[in-house]
Amino acid sequence: MEPRRMHISGNWKMNLGPRQSKGYLDELKGQFAALSFDQESFESRGVDVSLFPPFTSLHVFSESARDMPVVYGAQNAYCEASGAYTGEISADMVKELGARQVLVGHSERRHIFAESTDLIARKVSRVLSADLQVMLCVGETLEERQKGDTFDVLEKQVLTAIAHQTPEEVASWIQIAYEPVWAIGTGRNASPEDAQEACQFIRRLIAERFGHRVAPKTRILYGGSVKPGNAQAILERPDVDGALIGGASLKADTFAEVIRIAMEIA
Ligand code: PEP
Repeated sequence: MEPRRMHISGNWKMNLGPRQSKGYLDELKGQFAALSFDQESFESRGVDVSLFPPFTSLHVFSESARDMPVVYGAQNAYCEASGAYTGEISADMVKELGARQVLVGHSERRHIFAESTDLIARKVSRVLSADLQVMLCVGETLEERQKGDTFDVLEKQVLTAIAHQTPEEVASWIQIAYEPVWAIGTGRNASPEDAQEACQFIRRLIAERFGHRVAPKTRILYGGSVKPGNAQAILERPDVDGALIGGASLKADTFAEVIRIAMEIA
């Protein structure tokens, strides 16, 4: 079985509009040139790089990221294909702008926008129907961790979100990001041991539910205050297949530095 590729992904949240996105991509291009990173080197090291800009910057990516070894996607998409859903955007619409992946179940969507597990499951199915990759985010709150409920929460979030999917879809089209809520945007990251333990637990869940051939293929990332200073220790863990990075992805040089670290480990 081929080893899993490492995935370094940036979630810009509600930051970096079209003009700033263009400047960022130009700078990232410069960073890649200085580090001699291109499609071929990422391919041979087994590293994937992606970004989730805001919707309004997707068209900039469709122009400026075309010749870059960077996949991009949307931070959200509605659970229906089209219709009377004012203010929403469909997976097919972002696909038209070259998006190849969609974030589903980010903790900010769960907690600020009250997205339910049912809605998240429907979004997963819709994104897959559009032939786009899903990056499913799961993670416990501080209160849940302190009560000892972390694994129950992860089990519920993972298994309800992908309950309707086939083993093939889970192996090839779904990646999972373990993002403890208390570590997102707080500067407080999970320890590499905690990240490993949670990612390993999720992989075991996938094996039990979808089979032992699926689990080793499924990529499971860690997210929560990853930055150049802590990336290596986290990415070195065997069940951590990459990082989903918020704050530290907003500057091209910092993001490139995490990619450089991943290239050395992969
Ligand atoms: C995120 O938004 O998915 C995230 C992990 O953010 P940060 O890296 O800023 O904690």
